[in-house]
Amino acid sequence: MNRYIRQLSLPEIDLLKQEAINNTSLLMVGAGGLGAAALPYLAGAGIGHITIIDHDTIDISNLHRQTIYKSDDAGKSKAAACAQYLKALNPEIKITAHDFKLNEENAAAFFAQNQFDILLDGSDNFKTKDLLNTMSLRHHIPLIGASVNQFSGQVGTFEGYKKDGACYRCLFPEFPSDARNCNEAGILGTSAGIIGMLQAHITLMKITNCEQTIDNKFFSIDLKTLRISSISLKKSAHCPSCNSVQKAQQSDITTKETPMTTMISIDDLNTEETVIVDVRQPEEIANDPVHHEVILSPPLNIPLPEIISRQDELPRTKRIAFVCAGNIRSVQAAEYFAAKGMDNVCVLDKFSL
Ligand SMILES: [Zn+2]
Repeated sequence: MNRYIRQLSLPEIDLLKQEAINNTSLLMVGAGGLGAAALPYLAGAGIGHITIIDHDTIDISNLHRQTIYKSDDAGKSKAAACAQYLKALNPEIKITAHDFKLNEENAAAFFAQNQFDILLDGSDNFKTKDLLNTMSLRHHIPLIGASVNQFSGQVGTFEGYKKDGACYRCLFPEFPSDARNCNEAGILGTSAGIIGMLQAHITLMKITNCEQTIDNKFFSIDLKTLRISSISLKKSAHCPSCNSVQKAQQSDITTKETPMTTMISIDDLNTEETVIVDVRQPEEIANDPVHHEVILSPPLNIPLPEIISRQDELPRTKRIAFVCAGNIRSVQAAEYFAAKGMDNVCVLDKFSL
């Protein structure tokens, strides 16, 4: 968990949210400009299983924007080289690489054989975007779409399978006929990087349910003036894709609600029936030990980042009172185990000591 300690230190990312990240199975179609920018951050954040599909090989002209690849990689499979990079970045997660082109002939079988919680479109053509949108609608999986063309970038979340959610083709019922990819239109490497990173950012916001106001939004970024505009996505009654895919019940990958945490003061503490677990780092405890006349022996110390891997050390037959410096980490620990069904956990209010 030390790998994720900096994001876990955010009040918005507790152990349950980190577990949601670790339990996510994500598909990225395309390991080019968008995928190469998005995937390292998603792997770094701990997405538990990342599947990459790309049939392309690395060309020296890719390297100004696909900076995870090296000059020596020219000619190699993008999917395989990308997987190798991500595995080195985070060996704790699972990476699956597929060196084929996702198309109408193989998509149905591929999605029948694989389970995904979230889809990311890193493709550069409308045919693949349309296909991914269809799979999102059919299998009820959120689609984080992104595209970049010269100095224009777009990113947004599509959940057309929801009653009021919009799909990609609610927004683009007709595909532009003059769409050109990077090879033809030209692109600055940083443009692809910015949009790819925004795609990764929106993905993490979605998985952790951090910020609902960006759901059902489509953001356009002018990469010359850096002006960002957004529109709220609306389901279209005339959408060709929504109308061809059977509407399904609302679905979500967001984390479960956590029960209320019981907080006790030192006056409520029955030291014979309760084990105090201090979730601070040992060096913090050395400077500020838990001290009260009713506490006869030092609390058990399991730092918060280790609490899941060391949960076998927690007593099952006694009450567990988590304590920390300011009731934030202790509440996270109690909420995590309460959500797992343990009814013997509570928080010892540090300010009552
Ligand atoms: Zn639609």
